Amino acid sequence: MSNIDSIELLRALCRGEFHPGYTWVAIMSNGDYLCVSCLRENYRQVFRATRDGDPKEWAVAAYYGSDWGESESTVYCAHCHKLLWEQEPELREPDWELNT
Ligand SMILES: [Zn+2]
Repeated sequence: MSNIDSIELLRALCRGEFHPGYTWVAIMSNGDYLCVSCLRENYRQVFRATRDGDPKEWAVAAYYGSDWGESESTVYCAHCHKLLWEQEPELREPDWELNT
């Protein structure tokens, strides 16, 4: 994903124009997840870092939407620690009852 695309997506996401209705998170260059409200809150910092590709700041590396299949992990926002989505419960092994 080029920096231009990242910036365009960042704008759209913060305006709520990017597939509204889904939970979107940004995966930052340092591996942190950031929710959209924190993206808005830190917009200038994120914008600048993403534009400049600054790995020391919060540069967006990718975006992730909650509709993309089952979550393999529970994800919290790195800034406000809000629960973004929960891991899909594993299909549990049936409890076999031995009839003796
Ligand atoms: Zn947050």
